[in-house]
Amino acid sequence: MEDKIILYPSNWLYNAGVVGLLKVLGNIKDVKYEIKDGSIEIQKKGLNIEEIFENWDELTKNKLKIYYKGKKGGTQKYYYANQTENSIKEKIKSLLENNKKEGSKRRGFNIFCSICGASEIVNTTKLQKKMLTQAYGNILLASARTFPNSYWMLNPREIICSKCEFILMCHHIPFITLEGSNKNEKIEIFINSPSFTLIIDLNSFAENLLQKSKEYEVRKILGSSLLQWAIKRRTLLGAWTMMNIEVIVKKGSIIDYFDLPPDITKILLDYEIASLIEEINEEKIFNLILAGKFSELEKANYFMLKTILKLKKKEEINKNDPITKYFTKYNDLQYLRKVSLILPKLYGKILEKIGR
Ligand SMILES: [Zn+2]
Repeated sequence: MEDKIILYPSNWLYNAGVVGLLKVLGNIKDVKYEIKDGSIEIQKKGLNIEEIFENWDELTKNKLKIYYKGKKGGTQKYYYANQTENSIKEKIKSLLENNKKEGSKRRGFNIFCSICGASEIVNTTKLQKKMLTQAYGNILLASARTFPNSYWMLNPREIICSKCEFILMCHHIPFITLEGSNKNEKIEIFINSPSFTLIIDLNSFAENLLQKSKEYEVRKILGSSLLQWAIKRRTLLGAWTMMNIEVIVKKGSIIDYFDLPPDITKILLDYEIASLIEEINEEKIFNLILAGKFSELEKANYFMLKTILKLKKKEEINKNDPITKYFTKYNDLQYLRKVSLILPKLYGKILEKIGR
């Protein structure tokens, strides 16, 4: 028996599942796992079905206001439909076991997992259960892009292996809740990327940001998380990773995807640029950058210099002065002086970065 579970990034549903699984395991004493960029290795030693189920059920209760403990049925309308305490424990067991069964001459169908590619031999009754059913259907119906190569609504032949089943059932855990423009509308987001390290970081930055206010726009949340990442990690990302950062936005059973234009992602992930933006510390300037309105920075600079002159002459700044479009602290001479040294540098770096 292998002593560890190794997981590689796949589609967003699975990646969210892996992050959710880590949260489940995070509450268990002595669990050891290692996050490498390309994979996650979890030591099986010390893991047991009972404890994993308890933690999963607790997190599920917090998140979805439903629980499976003691449930023997009656869960048709639940997020994970038709599941019971036992069926979930079965899935945990499969994850912990070594399922390869190499050399065994079991009869049945040889299936290939749509997510991890592993093959598995199952009998006919089990085959039915292996198909993507409403056990995950709640979310999958909403999201044809999750499995881009399949027309599974017409031909529901996506198959999930035993090892991936429980992981998929953890996908709801890392979603972060925010408030939509309509207060009754619950929006949940998860930031996905091809790297587990990056996924975990970005989602935790987003979570921190949302602790201050639940009303941020998705664009802003992603932008700020990228900025934080650049400043804290000071690492260069490959183009493939950079271009594949996206936010999964869940509104009820509807799934949307949001990403920033490549140029903006590139800019926010640059350590020097990110630091300059942070130093300026002005939401209006940040919004211009997020919107890709870079030439506005030149204008901001012009009005800033004008304002500095006015302030030096002790002139009053009118509430409708163009400077107010760019700065909140437009009356603060010391602040503007500081920014006047940073903004031109920032503008230059941005142009350099996007090759204009
Ligand atoms: Zn699999």
